Amino acid sequence: MVISRLLRWLPERSLLERDAEQKFRASKAREARKSSLVFALVSALLLLLFNLSDYLSGLPFASPESLLRYIAIATLLIPLAYARRVSAVQLQRLWFAVAVLLILLINAVFYSAGLRNGALGVGGPVVLAVGLGSITFFHMGQKLLLWSLQLAGLLLVKYAGGVNTGWSLFYLTLVIFLLSFTQYRLDLLQRLHFRYQLAERLKAETDKLTGALNRHSFEKRLSHLLGQLKPGTTLCVGLLDIDYFKKYNDHYGHLKGDACLVAVSKALQELPLDLLVRFGGEEFIVVKMVHGDTPSWLLNLNQCIHALQVPHSASPLQWVSASVGLCQYRHQAGGSLPLSQQLLGAADKLLYEAKEGGRNRVCSALLANPATAAVQ
Ligand code: GH3
Ligand code: MG
Ligand code: MG
Repeated sequence: MVISRLLRWLPERSLLERDAEQKFRASKAREARKSSLVFALVSALLLLLFNLSDYLSGLPFASPESLLRYIAIATLLIPLAYARRVSAVQLQRLWFAVAVLLILLINAVFYSAGLRNGALGVGGPVVLAVGLGSITFFHMGQKLLLWSLQLAGLLLVKYAGGVNTGWSLFYLTLVIFLLSFTQYRLDLLQRLHFRYQLAERLKAETDKLTGALNRHSFEKRLSHLLGQLKPGTTLCVGLLDIDYFKKYNDHYGHLKGDACLVAVSKALQELPLDLLVRFGGEEFIVVKMVHGDTPSWLLNLNQCIHALQVPHSASPLQWVSASVGLCQYRHQAGGSLPLSQQLLGAADKLLYEAKEGGRNRVCSALLANPATAAVQ
């Protein structure tokens, strides 16, 4: 309870929704893919330089510190070897494991150097803490864990190993404290910026009046769904058009017309659709990926609008109603995927049939062959 309260203080726990936080981390991990590899090479080079300086100052080539540093260098190279084979997020997790190992190894170097020199200098632990702090893709929680591990290691070197660590514990604590402030601000600002970006993107993709997606975002979303189609699944694309809507506006006024559009959109939003798009005017596109038989609520989508019981005295039907053209594409193994224009074209033809058939109905058909866009 206390721990979870404390954890909520961390920006990565409290600022974004779970999904948004994951998206944010994935984008950071993708961004950091290249720079993390450069960082690894620079760190490896630095460790090599330490070994060289030890050697030049008269220490044997295979001193315990040098060997530990060579192991640390080898550890740094592990993510480099896996970089192409794993996802950016997996690579980031691997980096965290490597950072833990490095802290343990470098603390062992401090122990060995401290024993040999009779005391430990301040620089080493501070450089390690600053180095960890400069890794951009670790968030506050991860860095606090790493720094705590570093502190615990140094305490062990001092009290269990009997090494004189001088002022290093004091300076290490001070540096960690200061770096935590910077990291907190950074985590906070980056997430606020990401939240703003998400809101802007949503605004650009959403129709202001109805809250449905706008046409601009339709193509991208539909191709994403098409890419997810597995053999045997059916993609249903429907074009829904409100009946006698011009008469509705003429009779009740445009403001009431707007309210009617909002009510229709709200009813559609409550359905388990994969996409709801305002195509234009009083027309909506509905998209649903179906495993097995097409559900009856989709085959009778007009009923959902009729059930709203919005009076429309200028319509022969007396209530606001809608007609739907529903095109169903069943994906076969090895079959070519249809274009969004083919699906919409087929749905449009079916919509005309529904209108000509008397409105307030759904006309549906299977899209037989995407190559010719023929409707059975
Ligand atoms: P049908 O049954 O054949 O579909 O007839 P309809 O009257 O619905 O179709 P038509 O295309 O003749 O008229 C569509 C109307 O939709 C015309 C336009 O005034 C109205 N409309 C389009 N966009 C909006 C909007 O954002 N708000 C309002 N209130 N009306 C809109
Ligand atoms: Mg229309
Ligand atoms: Mg209409």
